[in-house]
Amino acid sequence: MIDPFRFARTGEQLERVINLTPEGRLEGIIAEKCDVTLDLKGGRHENKRFILDGHISGLAKVQCQVCLETMDMPLDIDFRVFPLKSEDQVERLQEEFEPIVIDESNNLALSELVTNELILSMPVAFSHIEIEGKDCANRTNFTSGVIQEEKKISPFAILKTKK
Ligand SMILES: [Zn+2]
Repeated sequence: MIDPFRFARTGEQLERVINLTPEGRLEGIIAEKCDVTLDLKGGRHENKRFILDGHISGLAKVQCQVCLETMDMPLDIDFRVFPLKSEDQVERLQEEFEPIVIDESNNLALSELVTNELILSMPVAFSHIEIEGKDCANRTNFTSGVIQEEKKISPFAILKTKK
């Protein structure tokens, strides 16, 4: 937990390992428990608004959409959020700025921040071929099935040569 307003005002910085579990909003997004690293820096935007600049790195455990195996997806997510006190302020914020509404306790859970950014930046489709550039292990099995099919044809070839 941090106080995002004080964090931004004093220009604090931190680096923290965040544990992710496939529960709540991350259910269906990540496949297994994994650790990612959050770098966060507070500051002020030119219009004097408080900002949090962050970077998320590490490997997220996700499920390949093709073969359903768990695979590592490298994360390299840059983000900038504007901590705000109320929904009213959000309406006044220009569209290109990403707001995060902070309740009266002035506390922001870093895991919530990472969860938000992960959900926003997750690609629509991901699989072994898209992320690792290689076919799924299951697809290799399909290929060997095709080879067996070809072997079955070969007896006809032998008959032909006998004629
Ligand atoms: Zn796969």
